[in-house]
Amino acid sequence: MTDLTRRNVLVGAAAGVVALGASAVAKAAEFGNPDSPPQGSINSTPAALSEPGPQNPQLRDVLPSFNNPPATDVGGMPIPWASFNEAHKRIQSGGWAREVTTKAFPVSKDIAGVNMRLGPGGVRELHWHQQAEWAIMVSGDVRITTIDTKGRAEVADVQSGDIWYFPPGLPHSLQGVGDNGGEFVLAFDNGAAGEFNTLMVTDWFAHTPPEILAQNFGVPAEKFKDIPLDQLWIYQGAKAGPLVADQAYCASPAGRPDHPFIFRMSAMTPTVSSAGGEVRIVDSHNFPVSKTVAAALVTVRPGGLRELHWHPDNDEWQYYIKGSGRMTVFNTGPAAQTVDFNPGDVGYVEKNLGHYIKNTGKDDLVFLEIFKSDHFSEVTLSQWLANVPRQMLKEHLRVDEETLDAIHKLKQRQDVLA
Ligand code: MN
Ligand code: MN
Repeated sequence: MTDLTRRNVLVGAAAGVVALGASAVAKAAEFGNPDSPPQGSINSTPAALSEPGPQNPQLRDVLPSFNNPPATDVGGMPIPWASFNEAHKRIQSGGWAREVTTKAFPVSKDIAGVNMRLGPGGVRELHWHQQAEWAIMVSGDVRITTIDTKGRAEVADVQSGDIWYFPPGLPHSLQGVGDNGGEFVLAFDNGAAGEFNTLMVTDWFAHTPPEILAQNFGVPAEKFKDIPLDQLWIYQGAKAGPLVADQAYCASPAGRPDHPFIFRMSAMTPTVSSAGGEVRIVDSHNFPVSKTVAAALVTVRPGGLRELHWHPDNDEWQYYIKGSGRMTVFNTGPAAQTVDFNPGDVGYVEKNLGHYIKNTGKDDLVFLEIFKSDHFSEVTLSQWLANVPRQMLKEHLRVDEETLDAIHKLKQRQDVLA
């Protein structure tokens, strides 16, 4: 925090110097300007910095770190930023969906994201897919149906902050309920997966010989003469009835599934809570069915920092829900790239790359960290450095004894927020 504050002060002061026309070259050797040749606007001139050509001011102004990265940024790496707001929407009678997959976001190899809304009575038709589906509700109410491999059904209503997980291959439906329907974000455990290439019940019926349908279901073939010839995907259905009625009709003689397919994530006690914010971790330890997706719902208070860390086991896919934040990803090279996030944006950090996330707004920053894994894991820079020999750390950082004491004390810190 002290370093970041000092750096901000330096950048501010340097901007004033540049505005007065003084040479910026002298700044190059100062703290916060590590590179040679020096990087960043602090080391440039107003004439060189100007941007007289065409530009999109709306995008520029919400993504300031692309236009004016800190002087500590260097080199290139895949952009760790995407947004549902720059994804094409597919709209049908019952709702809409848009997705961010490796087609538009090539670095996102482990996870593909889908943002979907179902209006009241809107139905995402009966389907399944080859990937697992993890989801979080962001608004309203949705009814889910699924069965396990023993034919045991679950029917449940989910609200904002609830999550569900369907293992690969288990069939399911989604329906907007109540007066408003619902909106949610899906994470598939494969970056190339999508909502437009699923296995749908209408497609299968339409592409199966009628006499086979007749034999399979034990009714005359003519009974299927009116089946849809095109997939329904998201259609406007009748308003859902009472939950208990659907649960009773769908109940299996074999009983309920071994594990629930839903989890009330926002209602759980935080895994970590501190002045800086809260973290709620949901993985296979507390949500046993979720064997391929682990999630952390992170709240960072204004001014707070999701501290410098990395994940040794998996890439991280992020979805930003509230507030605004800034992340820098540190890579080999060295390379470092800073990006800004707003609600609806998606981030991605490859396994083992260092990163922090700073709340840059006046309100809480809320975002999800998603991993293709059965468990959440990380290493924090502060825990590591609190546990290395004192003389060695002094030689690496060239800091005074008081600072070495302060870092050593961080071994007591239990949380992941500074
Ligand atoms: Mn699905
Ligand atoms: Mn992380």
